[in-house]
Amino acid sequence: MKFAITSKGDQASNSLADTMREYLLDFEFVSDEEEPDIVISVGGDGTLLHAFHRYYKRLDKTAFVGVHTGHLGFYADWLPNEVEKLVIAIAKTPFQVVEYPLLEVIIRYLDGSRETQYLALNEATIKSSNGTLVIDVEIRGEYFETFRGDGLCISTPSGSTAYNKALGGAIIHPSIEAIQVAEMASINNRVFRTVGSPLVLPKHHTCVLRSVNDTGLQLTIDHLTVVHEHVKSIQCRVANQKVRFVRFRPFPFWNRVRDSFVADK
Ligand code: NAP
Repeated sequence: MKFAITSKGDQASNSLADTMREYLLDFEFVSDEEEPDIVISVGGDGTLLHAFHRYYKRLDKTAFVGVHTGHLGFYADWLPNEVEKLVIAIAKTPFQVVEYPLLEVIIRYLDGSRETQYLALNEATIKSSNGTLVIDVEIRGEYFETFRGDGLCISTPSGSTAYNKALGGAIIHPSIEAIQVAEMASINNRVFRTVGSPLVLPKHHTCVLRSVNDTGLQLTIDHLTVVHEHVKSIQCRVANQKVRFVRFRPFPFWNRVRDSFVADK
């Protein structure tokens, strides 16, 4: 089995990563940064987002596992004092894999010349790079509303506990193949109106955001930010690809939600 380890870069994460590397090499695993079967991310959820984007082109061949060196994470759910147990589990147990849905974003441009495709593990956000975002929202081929406000956040179920939650979106179990559209400070008055609630769209419902003016759009895909000019539309839907996480023990999603947001056990 080929493995790669990514670290948050701080001293605690680097030293834990070194320890795990030594253990895995002792078990005659092969270190392969380019084509790993398993990627171990040491740090936090943010570290796993970076690892995901590093290996997003081989999602069908790579499974992820996260160790957290800070607070409890949603993707990083192993503790530093459990790494020996984790390495033994990787070495001795035929591991199970759980798959989580991803968000596919396709940007199309006014001149029709090309399109840009992204995959997000947490979410995509769309803001105007110059003032209020004004954008038509289309769902399943039908006009839905014209959004005016700070921006829109389109999240995956596993990303629903991240930015989406701060926007008042629902937490969605990752076994549900859906995306969620949440508003950021919409303008609502007698002239302008939006639905005002987060929308959860099933796999077969595509959401297309159509520019109504030609201002630059600031797009984030997880931790990455890019400004796109002359955008005609942004198409968002549940991706065909999924991310695979290695599971060696049950750690129910709702327990992680409780432990992260409500109370420690
Ligand atoms: P960051 O600003 O350094 O950290 C964002 C925080 O979100 C970290 O505490 C991170 O956990 C946590 N997080 C990431 N994914 C999560 C998930 N699926 N569920 C619950 N918490 C999660 O940025 P970053 O580390 O590069 O991560 C980028 C993410 O930040 C974006 O995908 C977005 O979701 C989130 N974000 C949130 C807000 C907000 O809540 N208002 C605003 C902007 C961006 P760790 O500490 O374990 O890494």
